[in-house]
Amino acid sequence: MAKVAFIGLGRMGHGMAGRYLDNGFALAVWNRSRSKAEDLIARGARWANSPADAADGADAIMTMVADDGASRAVWLGADGAARTARPGALAIECSTVSYGHALQLSKELRGRGLIYIDSPVTGLPDAAAAGKLTLLVGAEPADLEKARPYLVPLSTTIRHFGAVGSGTVYKLINNLMGAIQIAGIAEGLAIAEQAGLDIKLVLEAIETGVAASPQVIRHSKRMAARNFSGATFTAALRHKDAAYAVALAESLLAEAPLMGRAAVQAYDRAKAHAPDDDEGKMIEIVSRAK
Ligand code: NAP
Repeated sequence: MAKVAFIGLGRMGHGMAGRYLDNGFALAVWNRSRSKAEDLIARGARWANSPADAADGADAIMTMVADDGASRAVWLGADGAARTARPGALAIECSTVSYGHALQLSKELRGRGLIYIDSPVTGLPDAAAAGKLTLLVGAEPADLEKARPYLVPLSTTIRHFGAVGSGTVYKLINNLMGAIQIAGIAEGLAIAEQAGLDIKLVLEAIETGVAASPQVIRHSKRMAARNFSGATFTAALRHKDAAYAVALAESLLAEAPLMGRAAVQAYDRAKAHAPDDDEGKMIEIVSRAK
């Protein structure tokens, strides 16, 4: 039976790890706070005392944690997965990390004989639990084929962008464009509210107009209703992604990424306001009247 180590059981990782139990893999799990693992343990997962313990004997090690710092800790920390992972095992980073971190981590793990795959994801936590994510892969083609049996249980679509790091490049572009859109909706709705427009009509016009996207439609409704229940993506995570994307833009583009920087500033404020709440809560700041 193929052995998977899954590290990081937050909103996304918890559902993703469960997919390996659904599909008959032997699963070892580790999370910084053990409580999130209890139901997976009850379903047959082995609780590991550290990322190193989880990785011991695994064929594939998957990580889904918050950011660069968390990724570095679980892979390369004193009790990190790299300490025990066997040469030839797959190291699959699914977290959204910076481009620089993805390349550095790949170098470190390849140096220890692991096969590194860059596989950030799109899709919300319900898609993670249902195996309906889109995976944004950066990998050598032969390595992707080795990893495919471990990627299929998570996903309906696997997009291979090229070499290691390229999946992260696309993920950062995607989330930067999202950050700009969401900050834009907050501003647009705030103007409409303060100008006294009929918000029901505004929402209808947005939904059927040229500015609509699935993201715009979803967030405009939630913002207008001030309904932020069931937070799926937090202000802190969106801020992190936009900041990583701007750093990448600054390394590639001659002109300053003005839209990106504005989005980072908007999320600076949203993060200070409510870091662990739904990212759409930025409307509460933007809509304050003059
Ligand atoms: P989350 O619910 O906040 O979970 C974050 C995870 O990272 C938790 O397991 C947390 O452990 C762990 N963690 C944080 N700092 C750590 C550290 N220093 N050492 C070890 N573990 C640490 O976040 P999420 O929504 O699942 O997102 C996880 C990743 O997926 C992020 O990179 C995010 O950008 C990306 N993503 C999210 C979505 C979404 O819709 N939510 C969609 C696509 C991609 P604890 O449980 O102990 O706090």
